[in-house]
Amino acid sequence: MAKLIYDKNGRLLFTKEMKEEYTILMPQMLPVHFGMMKRCLEMEGYKVDMLTTNHRAIVNTGLKYVHNDTCYPALLVIGQLIEAIQSGRYDVDKTALIITQTGGGCRASNYIHLLRKALKKAGLEKIPVISINLSGLEKNPGFKLNLKLIMRLVYSMVYGDIIVLLANQCRPYEIEKGATDKMVEFWENELLSQFEKSEGLGPASFRENLARIAEDFANIPVVRVPKVRVGVVGEIYIKYSPFGNNNLEDFLLSEDCEPVVPGLIDFILFKIDNRLVDADLYGSNIFKRAVVGLLKKYISARQHELIAAVRKYPQFRAPEPFEVIKANVKDYLGYGNKMGEGWLLTGEMLELINDGIVDIVCTQPFGCLPNHIVGKGMIRAIKNRHPESNIVAIDYDPGATKINQENRIKLMLSNARARMEKERSSEHADAPVLTADAETYSDKEYSRSVGAEDADILDLPDTQAINKKSSSTNTVQQ
Ligand code: SF4
Repeated sequence: MAKLIYDKNGRLLFTKEMKEEYTILMPQMLPVHFGMMKRCLEMEGYKVDMLTTNHRAIVNTGLKYVHNDTCYPALLVIGQLIEAIQSGRYDVDKTALIITQTGGGCRASNYIHLLRKALKKAGLEKIPVISINLSGLEKNPGFKLNLKLIMRLVYSMVYGDIIVLLANQCRPYEIEKGATDKMVEFWENELLSQFEKSEGLGPASFRENLARIAEDFANIPVVRVPKVRVGVVGEIYIKYSPFGNNNLEDFLLSEDCEPVVPGLIDFILFKIDNRLVDADLYGSNIFKRAVVGLLKKYISARQHELIAAVRKYPQFRAPEPFEVIKANVKDYLGYGNKMGEGWLLTGEMLELINDGIVDIVCTQPFGCLPNHIVGKGMIRAIKNRHPESNIVAIDYDPGATKINQENRIKLMLSNARARMEKERSSEHADAPVLTADAETYSDKEYSRSVGAEDADILDLPDTQAINKKSSSTNTVQQ
């Protein structure tokens, strides 16, 4: 059994010996991206298991071992890791954990300390925790981020973005159920087998793969009937993780909508750009600035190539480049707002609205101050300039029920459908403005599922505004 070795600060190290013997447990955030990243780690000789567990006991474990004012994503991730170890599925003497550290100022950099504290509380302090970061925050002799691995991880994220982007635009319309998922699986395997041969990791082969991916998805047989396109924005873990957001994308599909989820590449560029903003605001040495600038240029170029590949097919919506998203935010927030998703969250909402996707779910985890400011806190400012926007902020916390979250989203959808119906009827004759469904839903569920403040933000049609008043009255009476 591997010897336990500690650094001078008492941190348990992941040693070279452990690399041979241990299974590393990693949380999942984006199924496609993280699935590919797991396999990239395996190519380097690590034994890795990605956790896809999704049940209430995880939340309870998080509540038991993490302070209850900690942000919900931290509670979920730590709860999931500890629940897995305590489940008996793994040998506790041969298990390690891996977690990302963004290097930013919010708790995402401090999860690792919360995790170690929780392990100690659970009597599991002999389990090493590996930090995966590009800021040199923590190092381990048995875990090295060499250039090849970094390239594979970065390209997994960029390829993951185009796959998810196109899959989301095919799945709701596919004729043969499951055809899109089959294509996703094919491309994951194809790219990973290229990575194994050290292919697909340079600009030229990247462009070639992008063109093939876009063509393959464009060839999936679909029927493009009009559906409500729903943007999903918010704190990164809750926005992407099916566990964190109670399978939000599946729910939107079941409601006959098309989910539109911004890609991870913008977040990566946002994080890199923050270093340049820091340099502008607080100063930095020229060499560091030049290196960060080059990195940003390299990733931006890949994003532009991705956009160009998607734009070849008019049936697909391509995202805007990072620079456009950044410019859109200029009149709303300063670029110093960079904790959590920072100004990018507001920028993503604006990007979607400018693209005609005005129906948006803004996912808000409990205990996340940064994203409450740049997410929920900016909805009124956005609505003032974009009255057509239909944004609902949904809270995710240990006490929030799935049914309540879904009811509130359904209300937002009823507004969206009413608007679509209105647009359609104004094109044709004097058809009714509200669908029966929307009115029925509003009557039954509105007062239960929405507070007065949210109703203002949702900007309800007239018939619902009446309910809003009675709902406010009911709330006061209670
Ligand atoms: S952004 Fe918010 S939810 Fe995410 S780690 Fe930071 S504090 Fe927690």
